[in-house]
Amino acid sequence: MTAALTRRPRLGDWRSHEELAASRRARLPEVLSQAARTPFYQRRLTEGATLEDLALTTKQDLRDNYPYGLLAVPKEELATYHESSGTAGRPTASYYTADDWHDLSERYARKWVGITASDTFLVRTPYALMITGHLAHAAARLHGATVVPGDNRSLAMPYSRVVRVLHDLGVTLTWSMPTETLLWAAAARAQGHEPGRDFPNLRALFVGGEPLSPARRRRIAELWGVPVVEEYGSTETGSLAGECEHGRMHLWADRAVFEVYDPATGRLGAEGSGQLVVTPLYREAMPLLRYNLEDAVEVSYDDCPCGWVLPTVRVLGRSAFGYPVAGRAVTQAVLEDLVFQLPAGDEVLFWRARAHADLLRVEIEVPDARREPATRALRAAIDEALRVPCEVTGVAPGTLVPRTVLTGVHDVVKPRSLFGADEDWDKALLYY
Ligand SMILES: [Zn+2]
Repeated sequence: MTAALTRRPRLGDWRSHEELAASRRARLPEVLSQAARTPFYQRRLTEGATLEDLALTTKQDLRDNYPYGLLAVPKEELATYHESSGTAGRPTASYYTADDWHDLSERYARKWVGITASDTFLVRTPYALMITGHLAHAAARLHGATVVPGDNRSLAMPYSRVVRVLHDLGVTLTWSMPTETLLWAAAARAQGHEPGRDFPNLRALFVGGEPLSPARRRRIAELWGVPVVEEYGSTETGSLAGECEHGRMHLWADRAVFEVYDPATGRLGAEGSGQLVVTPLYREAMPLLRYNLEDAVEVSYDDCPCGWVLPTVRVLGRSAFGYPVAGRAVTQAVLEDLVFQLPAGDEVLFWRARAHADLLRVEIEVPDARREPATRALRAAIDEALRVPCEVTGVAPGTLVPRTVLTGVHDVVKPRSLFGADEDWDKALLYY
């Protein structure tokens, strides 16, 4: 394929959805011929087939074709290999060439808060196997920023170090799951810093990988005093949507064909509610045709005041599924929104809930002085919004997120076998 020579569209290259659709159609023959180079699609693609003729590619198809059943290029052209996070069993593999990486990095960097050479960018998502850390890292490098690699799954980077780095280096941009930013806020306070005051260089928090309700998002933005910029994607596809300055997520519909699949009827459409199905238009290593991400979404072609001629998406993800309590479905999204609608002065950052057959049990971390009003207010809000029997308990700060997690520092040592007489030789070899 000549993708390296193909000019990929830039935001603003088109004026209407029709123009954009025409450019996608023009691209499809090349996408199909690239797919035909893979063992998997060789079996599926019949002579003269168009995208509309094809069955969906499922996550199970990817697992069944682990590791290289969807490889379309000689292996020496691969730049990276990844696997999705997930449970045990056969992994979902994905792989990219160097040119695929240009497309990935460009899409990631398309947020309304841009990345510049003067930025110091903390990447706080996993680097091991998954794509997320590398994606932000590559996008930041592409724009000349200074990257601080701060993998959230590495023992070398406990919360105390995150706070030190954010503070001492004057980090301007971060990339993490939304929950991380709340943990940083608590860790900052545990070290005597105030998030909204003592990190004056911070410009924005880039977040993704986890559903985020409007109230939690507002709370995070208030706490840190900067915008929260959401993004949506997956390890198999990279970034698929990013946020405009009006807080809406736009699908990168110039870089992929997006469809919405209704599992109840089996119908595929361009908009509405259902599961998001994606056909990336600029993939060398691992073409995907009608790949069903199985995330619940709502896609709309309504105009957005930002002026981007791109459909918008609301990602409900797994948060669309609830647990039954007394015959009603309780979702995390609704509960989260109620918790974070409590006044900021209640200082509630962490909570958990359990759906029993006829009782919803909720625990919030709240300081003693605010325990009574906060639990009373939340109970009333749940009663009003969900109408299920509930018990709200205020627990002391440190109960759900132990203080040692926020303040602890691990030794990062190298393996060795010889120790002095007064040293702990239990640290031999197993050095982490
Ligand atoms: Zn917009």
